[in-house]
Amino acid sequence: MRCGWCRRRLESCWSHGRAAYRCQHGNTSAKRAAGRRRNLYLREDHLIEAVHALLVEGDADAMVSSRASGLAQQLRECGLVVICSEASCALEPQSPA
Ligand SMILES: [Zn+2]
Repeated sequence: MRCGWCRRRLESCWSHGRAAYRCQHGNTSAKRAAGRRRNLYLREDHLIEAVHALLVEGDADAMVSSRASGLAQQLRECGLVVICSEASCALEPQSPA
């Protein structure tokens, strides 16, 4: 999974006691500099729902797992990455880099 803004890989973390993913857009300081973009935080359960919906939409006949491990495997098999932003997620072909 990657950030839709800076394309970095999302890191897993815990947010309010829930599994989540975040991107700090390359910022390492906890201080908020003026004009700095807010960190991206996504709850894992929301993300799983969104990715599941995207896979079903892409191939209605496919057996789409609703479990996180199954989804991750399916994305790898299809060579897809999830591009995330605060508002939405999208699937894109994995770049060879
Ligand atoms: Zn980012």
